[in-house]
Amino acid sequence: MPAIAFSPLKAVRGEDLRRQNLAVVVAALEGTTLSLTELAKETGLVHGGVTNVVNQLLELGFIVEQQKLPSGARGRPSRNFSVADKAALAVGISAGKDRVSVEVVTLTGERLGSMSEAGIPLSLTPAEFSSAAFAMVEKLVKEVTPDPVPLSVAVAVPGRAFDGRLTSFGRHWQGAESVTLFSHAPAAVKLSQIINDGAAATVAEHRLGAASGVGSAVIMCGTDGIAGGLIDEGRLVQGSQGGAGSLGHMSVDFDGIACLCGLRGCLERYISLEALAGELGMLAELEAATLPVFADHLASLAAAGDAAVLAVLEGARQRIHRAVTILGPVFSPDLVILSGNIAPLTPWLGSAGGGPKLSSTYRVNWVPPIVAGAVGSRAVIEGASEIARQALLQDPLALAS
Ligand SMILES: [Zn+2]
Repeated sequence: MPAIAFSPLKAVRGEDLRRQNLAVVVAALEGTTLSLTELAKETGLVHGGVTNVVNQLLELGFIVEQQKLPSGARGRPSRNFSVADKAALAVGISAGKDRVSVEVVTLTGERLGSMSEAGIPLSLTPAEFSSAAFAMVEKLVKEVTPDPVPLSVAVAVPGRAFDGRLTSFGRHWQGAESVTLFSHAPAAVKLSQIINDGAAATVAEHRLGAASGVGSAVIMCGTDGIAGGLIDEGRLVQGSQGGAGSLGHMSVDFDGIACLCGLRGCLERYISLEALAGELGMLAELEAATLPVFADHLASLAAAGDAAVLAVLEGARQRIHRAVTILGPVFSPDLVILSGNIAPLTPWLGSAGGGPKLSSTYRVNWVPPIVAGAVGSRAVIEGASEIARQALLQDPLALAS
């Protein structure tokens, strides 16, 4: 189906065109090695244009040339190119509830290293967080490569940045200037961005996990609450001010439990690990464990037939079912994915049923399968480093700045 454009199409020229063509050639080379002729065919650029772009990318060190002998005995060796794995590194940083995590990946997506430190990131000021996180980044980068290398950084947070300010946070970060999160970034950082943790998890499930190759998907990701994201036609749905996909604050009961957002009956008041632990009187056990460990513990109790755990999970299942019943007609996803630390609970949270019955015609479009995420509790940090990597692939000129 052709895309429907609601805004007039604009020609791209000058510097933007140059950037775009660089990104197009890099995209064609992602995960493969191509000759100039193959690149021209793959990108639709004329041969001279490809040569020009390839020369720029070689100069930037973004791609490397490999001599490949022709298969027959005769003929010149063809010039072949691939992305230079370590021309720059992508760094994901995640500010979770009780720890800061950092991960470094190459331009081709290979994970070089990761690091995690306990603490409560959101109790720090953004500048203090920046100091702590970038100290970890510098240490980790030094461990994985001896040479100075340009970096692209994406910081995943349980909120978002809009108009230069941090928004939807707890009181410590709310309204602070976004740039303060990068106040301690080293000069090697050439690209930097702030992303919502749910958006990061969504990208991870889409690029590397359960939503790979899926057109439309809803991701509910267990963090300390419930983060989320929506994918349509392979793209993250942003919404006004980047606020789309906040599924933890989707009300499934207008008379339900009050939420810090001002609504009542928000999904995360019922299905987050904290909510489940509260209902089960297990908050002390949750406090003593990490979130993924507690999730596995709950799953093993449920698998062993613990009646109290099964009853609470059944309540949570019905809330999710209600949320999916609302999302179906609005968004019609192919798939609903339970990611992050609620993924291990999918066998008990994921089955539909018990609610109102749809006619078979509507059921086909509106009742998607609910499946477990494939990147587990690493969803947020893996999404962050993937987003940082994508930023580099889309803007190789950043290396020259
Ligand atoms: Zn809420």
